[in-house]
Amino acid sequence: MFLNLATAESLFHIPPSRRLRINREKLRKLLLDGIEVQWNKSLTKFSTSPSCVGVRFQDGSLVEGKLLIGADGANSKLRRLLCPETGASNQLPIRCLGGTIKLSPEAIKPLRSLDPLLFQGCHPDTSTNLWYSVLDTPEANGSKGEEE
Ligand SMILES: Cc1cc2nc3c(=O)[nH]c(=O)nc-3n(C[C@H](O)[C@H](O)[C@H](O)COP(=O)(O)OP(=O)(O)OC[C@H]3O[C@@H](n4cnc5c(N)ncnc54)[C@H](O)[C@@H]3O)c2cc1C
Repeated sequence: MFLNLATAESLFHIPPSRRLRINREKLRKLLLDGIEVQWNKSLTKFSTSPSCVGVRFQDGSLVEGKLLIGADGANSKLRRLLCPETGASNQLPIRCLGGTIKLSPEAIKPLRSLDPLLFQGCHPDTSTNLWYSVLDTPEANGSKGEEE
């Protein structure tokens, strides 16, 4: 649902097909199954030789292997090392503020009556955009049955 934020009226309402909201922590645990992860390693630089690639981490440790895959996100250090001229992110003239709030089932009712999962909107005068979505449930965060 897309709202006019000046009036809270619905501008567009695309009836949803079957939707699944995936709990990130559970998915992460599932994907980690059988993989040995070394946590709290922060890449600082890498070097290559004909036989291997060496990766240096902030704690001083060195890891050598055959293949280095950069999956370090939007501000990828590896991308910036590989492409010093073009690897930085481009700053957009947009300010974004994000926050989370915990609500009781009673308090969240008015929001869930708009949509059980998510909605968004834009203010016609300021172009302010709003995105709202439910991130957690009593079932997932363990509060079900008591102080949900
Ligand atoms: C609030 C929010 C809600 C979102 N909701 C959704 C959604 O509902 N559905 C959806 O599909 N997408 C959603 N996204 C987008 C999604 O999260 C990203 O597109 C996705 O996580 C990008 O994956 P990635 O692996 O490229 O990077 P990331 O998930 O950012 O992972 C990068 C990893 O690299 C690590 N790292 C960074 N620098 C270094 C370094 N120097 N050395 C070692 N490790 C490093 C970081 O710690 C991190 O663990 C959302 C994003 C945000 C911010």
